Amino acid sequence: MLPAWPGGRRREVTRRPPATPGWRTGAAACGRRRLPLPARAAYPGRRIRKEEAAMARIGFVGLGNMGGPMARNLVRAGHAVTGFDIVPETLARAAAAGVAAAVSAAEAARGAEFVITMLPAGEQVREAWLGAGGMAAASDPGAVLVDCSTIDVATARAVAAAVGRPMLDAPVSGGVMGAEAATLTFMVGGPAEAFARAEPILKAMGRNVLHCGEAGAGQAAKTCNNMVLAATMIVTCEAFVLAEKLGLSHQALFDVMSRSSGQSWSLTTYCPVPGPVPGSPANRDYRPGFAAALMAKDLGLAQEAARAAGVETPLGAQALALYRRFVEQGGAEADFSGIIRMLRGGG
Ligand code: NAD
Repeated sequence: MLPAWPGGRRREVTRRPPATPGWRTGAAACGRRRLPLPARAAYPGRRIRKEEAAMARIGFVGLGNMGGPMARNLVRAGHAVTGFDIVPETLARAAAAGVAAAVSAAEAARGAEFVITMLPAGEQVREAWLGAGGMAAASDPGAVLVDCSTIDVATARAVAAAVGRPMLDAPVSGGVMGAEAATLTFMVGGPAEAFARAEPILKAMGRNVLHCGEAGAGQAAKTCNNMVLAATMIVTCEAFVLAEKLGLSHQALFDVMSRSSGQSWSLTTYCPVPGPVPGSPANRDYRPGFAAALMAKDLGLAQEAARAAGVETPLGAQALALYRRFVEQGGAEADFSGIIRMLRGGG
């Protein structure tokens, strides 16, 4: 199910209409630069920050649960965003939020200073950049390429080595809520110079932008982080299920644990039962959110990485087994916190 995108942060200044047809003049009005308006850009009275840096031309491919709100936040920050998604409805929704709709990934990349992908998995990332669509080849030789998808370290390194342009792997943490509120954490691997150029762009979509090392380092950080996230979510769900059986209310357990040593992001930001954290997916029947199938994918990546590194991660392995079972039982599209239903059922 696709998310609604209303809400999010409102910025201080309403952009004036372009003075010259075909040209955007938001930053130019402050004496910085002018950019050609992409041919089919929707241009709905955007709001930008007073202190905004020079706008950039950005290509954005993959406008789903995460990419959609991320692209919208770039538009709100005053950048000229041209986007593409293989699902027409998803692309149309992005266009309604101010993203110029391209007819292909290559067209979205052409002429952009930054090209961002937010795709499901390594297979799509490799295909989008290096496949027949020719997105990497279509991109400007001086462009910085940024893949924000969560993929395996080996594919991230292989794609970065093959694209022929500076590339960053920049997976995110913070979920759909973080994407909507522009509070994501970016963990970034790749050349320091490319990182320095991309940092202000990533900051328009997130709160923390961390350079972790060379190519693949961002994915390595992400895989470790998500293994911890899955394990804490499962055990938090187990605690709520146990509390239900012991006659302890959800709110009482939340109040105690959120102030005690059982506290975690899974509890205080993403609480798996409705009520204590109104914004969490549990309050909307576990949809939309971070799909359990994607969590199972991430846990598979962590196990692959652990095997390749010769490291034993028994809790990570158990979390993978539980998420795979949840997916097999029909939970693939549900938010990953929905695993509480399986745990409640004793499945
Ligand atoms: P999603 O399925 O909602 O979005 C992916 C989008 O990519 C879809 O709209 C799909 O149509 C599009 N797409 C697929 N192949 C394409 C192609 N070749 N060209 C253009 N578009 C294509 O997934 P999502 O939840 O937005 O997640 C995207 C990535 O972010 C995944 O790697 C996921 O693991 C990661 N992630 C997700 C969350 C979350 O909470 N959803 C949190 C952190 C990281």
